[in-house]
Amino acid sequence: MKLTTIVLSTLLALVFSQDQDDYRRLREDMVKTQIEARNVYNRATLKAMRTVPRHEFVPEYMKAYAYEDRPLSIGNGQTISQPYIVAFMTSVINPKPDDRILEIGTGSGYQAAVLAEIVHSVYTIEIIPELADKAKAKFESLNYSNIYTKTGDGYHGWPEEAPFDAIVVTAAPDEVPEPLIEQLREGGRLVIPIGPKYSVQSLQLLTMKDGKTSIKNLFPVRFVPFTRD
Ligand code: SAH
Repeated sequence: MKLTTIVLSTLLALVFSQDQDDYRRLREDMVKTQIEARNVYNRATLKAMRTVPRHEFVPEYMKAYAYEDRPLSIGNGQTISQPYIVAFMTSVINPKPDDRILEIGTGSGYQAAVLAEIVHSVYTIEIIPELADKAKAKFESLNYSNIYTKTGDGYHGWPEEAPFDAIVVTAAPDEVPEPLIEQLREGGRLVIPIGPKYSVQSLQLLTMKDGKTSIKNLFPVRFVPFTRD
């Protein structure tokens, strides 16, 4: 190898690792000031939020804002949720290592990646083909081999893979899609924003016990609408 090549590649490696260090610091800050400070204590969730490179899930021009306390645009009129909301929804379903989880609304793929750090497998459905394809490529490039993707209307869930230990819905319908309730196993948890389009919705937690669901209203949120094919 020529000396110039060696010098250049060493420099590149240095700049790259400097970048990774910067992102790690931003991520640590995000977890401390936005998530722990708002009382999310679930250890597996905190660890996953410290691990997943959120900047990899936003468009290039948004990378500088990836660790800020807000949702960001990901194109096609959709958004990646605020980090705190992702952490809260993850912790509220109390994910366990053996769990199989269904997510409706893949979007950027970030929420699915956070879940995939904790559980056995994540099944995620996205209705916009461009976003579904981009997320799938991202999972491959980051080596998430336990995330399974599907393009289509998540209203119907993923019956072939049901029942699920938990279901996370990241777009807001007017009411809980019946097929999702049917695909929740006994003891399963479903977290979902319910309410009108482009307005304030209520984040709800449904728990399946003795074949019946109980509903708990958590807090007001604003998600993109749940659309239908
Ligand atoms: N979980 C995502 C958030 C994406 S926003 C993330 O971490 O980035 C919600 C997503 O739900 C959008 O991409 C939208 O296209 C998708 N969506 C809306 N209605 C849907 C439906 N019926 N089935 C599947 N995906 C849907």
